[in-house]
Amino acid sequence: MYIDTHCHLNFDAYDTDRAMVIGNAKKAGVKQFIVPGVDIWSSQQAIALTQKNPGVIYAAIGIHPYEAQHDWNVHDLDRLMATYSNRTIQHYNDIIVAIGECGLDYHLYKGEAAVSRKDYQKKLFEAELRLALAHNLPVIIHCRDAFDDLYSVLDGLPSMPRGVIHCFGGGLADIRYARDRKLYVGIDGNVTYSKTLRTIVPDIPLSMLLLETDAPLLTPAPHRGTRNEPKYIPLIAKHIAELMHVTLNEVKTATAKNAECLFGLPPH
Ligand SMILES: [Zn+2]
Ligand SMILES: [Zn+2]
Repeated sequence: MYIDTHCHLNFDAYDTDRAMVIGNAKKAGVKQFIVPGVDIWSSQQAIALTQKNPGVIYAAIGIHPYEAQHDWNVHDLDRLMATYSNRTIQHYNDIIVAIGECGLDYHLYKGEAAVSRKDYQKKLFEAELRLALAHNLPVIIHCRDAFDDLYSVLDGLPSMPRGVIHCFGGGLADIRYARDRKLYVGIDGNVTYSKTLRTIVPDIPLSMLLLETDAPLLTPAPHRGTRNEPKYIPLIAKHIAELMHVTLNEVKTATAKNAECLFGLPPH
């Protein structure tokens, strides 16, 4: 089976047909979904989805770097965690399996002197990383145009959290960085059209690869221009298998095992 390790089924893009989207993904062989929050509201929505779809949907709670410009505070996440950590450990692990998505995104700030906003992103990210360490949860890391600062924040921690650099857009040096710190990398539908990604993917060891759609964004070719859905995971896997010169089954088996291991999902 496939696992979509990053899809925003909590977004209102799915409000009218969420059950059908999940059903169509299951028909395509995608049986489990990690749904990350980008703020407190969407994190709560992700948790609500786990309760309606136990053993199928798992939540990650976090504040996206885009939200750093608003009033979100990591203490709100702390409170959200506390609500759920009162439950038994088993039940708790069935609901929140990661902190994220969190990280750094300097793409917005191109050509702008945005030092203070970058500093705020770094502070928020570090607080989320420490929350993950405190709860022994993995982190789902979002990083765009900010790898140098990402490494300085991660390397400044008392210990390295487990986690994934999601929607990986780095180069060979970044793959080495991730490998040395036992981080996974998530590959999305842009592998079907991004020339840069297609040259990088063959160098990613299967043992550190995760599949994700980032739905409703990043729709793979030939469906670009329409809403993305987790049912396209096998299409992404097929492109990766071709680029890596391995079988589709090898990609499917390795990525499911990696996801189960990182997020502590029950083996199927
Ligand atoms: Zn992201
Ligand atoms: Zn995302």
